[in-house]
Amino acid sequence: MRKYSVFAVAREALRAHKGWEAQWVSPEPRQSYDVIIIGGGGHGLGAAYYLAKEHGITNVAVIEKGWLGGGNTGRNTTIIRSNYLYEESMDIFEHSLKLWEGLSQELNYNVMYSPRGVLMLSHNVHDMQSFKRHINANNLYGIDNEWLTPEQARDFCPPLDISKTARFPINGAALQRRGGTARHDAVAWGYARAASDRGVHIIQNTEVTGIRRGPNGEVTGVETTRGFIGAKKIGVSASGHNTVVMAMADVRVPLMSQPLQALVSEPMKPIFPCVVMSNTVHAYISQSDKGEFVIGAGTDQYNSYSQTGGLQIITHTLDAICELFPMFRRVKMMRQWGGITDNTSDRSPIQSVTPVPGLFVNCGWGTGGFKATPGSANLFAHLIARGEPHRLAAGLTLDRFRTGRLIDEAAAAAVAH
Ligand SMILES: Cc1cc2nc3c(=O)[nH]c(=O)nc-3n(C[C@H](O)[C@H](O)[C@H](O)COP(=O)(O)OP(=O)(O)OC[C@H]3O[C@@H](n4cnc5c(N)ncnc54)[C@H](O)[C@@H]3O)c2cc1C
Repeated sequence: MRKYSVFAVAREALRAHKGWEAQWVSPEPRQSYDVIIIGGGGHGLGAAYYLAKEHGITNVAVIEKGWLGGGNTGRNTTIIRSNYLYEESMDIFEHSLKLWEGLSQELNYNVMYSPRGVLMLSHNVHDMQSFKRHINANNLYGIDNEWLTPEQARDFCPPLDISKTARFPINGAALQRRGGTARHDAVAWGYARAASDRGVHIIQNTEVTGIRRGPNGEVTGVETTRGFIGAKKIGVSASGHNTVVMAMADVRVPLMSQPLQALVSEPMKPIFPCVVMSNTVHAYISQSDKGEFVIGAGTDQYNSYSQTGGLQIITHTLDAICELFPMFRRVKMMRQWGGITDNTSDRSPIQSVTPVPGLFVNCGWGTGGFKATPGSANLFAHLIARGEPHRLAAGLTLDRFRTGRLIDEAAAAAVAH
């Protein structure tokens, strides 16, 4: 495909933008593929790209029941960071953060990665102890994360109210300067374009309705709304619907599917320079390049496939935002939506072989998988190609729910992401 560049933009500007070609081809499905990925979110599309690029496997299809990025990839608040507590998490999230740093160049697609810093507010002694533990663990592992006094936090984020009379006084903050945001749907489109360019078939509006197996239990292909498509290997990366898809192969995965909501405000002039999260007050906020405040809530406390979510959850979040930033009280909210997140009991993801030969799963990213998109996709491709996990994802297998070696990241993911 044609390289995107400033020269291409200039050339197209001179001919009324009539020369842009489709970003990816949408072919008729083949009878069979070496690998089928179920789920056209960032993780699935990225895995297809890395299968082609790093493992030379190009006879690959990504099957998506809706449109690319229409799942959680296009519904999230785009916060990126790697300051998790345990080595298993730091390995994969830091691998991902490093890939984010060069992703636009890698894909020749502007994913608008913006390392504007993620500031996590501490409101009490417990927060302070917990954040300092994370900072020490991160620093020992070579990952940036630092402690700021309230004054330093206010200097970094001027809208912060650090007065002692604030509704939720701030006694400091943890800052990961390399953390930030990216443009979510550009990530899906960028991976789709680059994968398609290497021969991967992107098949949208096609739902997988069954997984067919051979005499020895191995996968042989998928039933879809467009008929049967054969496959030697299948990678499942269907986010909130992972349990549903895995049940098609009689595999139960330890996940809870719960709605998570976000909302955006009317656009404002640029006044909010970073990402701010408050685990205790339970809200997170950043300002998009369009000027809208992007605000995230917590998960609903019940399992559901409804992409709406409870009203009380977002009203609570807005209460929290207004109490943290009284200056936003008169800002109007424009849109609200939900996505179905797949949460594990230890709040850590699963990338694993399964009891079914040829079937691999990438799931449990729950409320925090956008930041992991490049790293997860990269390591999932390795798992599918080699049949065994990459060393950076070795601790994330399904086995940990049998052995009890859980990776408890509840504190790192406490604002439900
Ligand atoms: C409101 C909200 C805020 C969030 N905020 C953040 C954040 O700030 N930072 C962060 O790191 N993470 C965040 N997340 C989590 C993050 O969005 C997800 O973990 C991540 O995007 C998952 O990507 P994915 O590619 O695995 O899934 P998805 O993008 O959901 O892709 C899975 C795809 O599978 C498809 N599918 C499902 N069933 C089938 C089937 N039977 N056949 C074919 N296709 C199927 C779906 O249509 C979907 O497109 C948030 C999530 C939500 C909902």
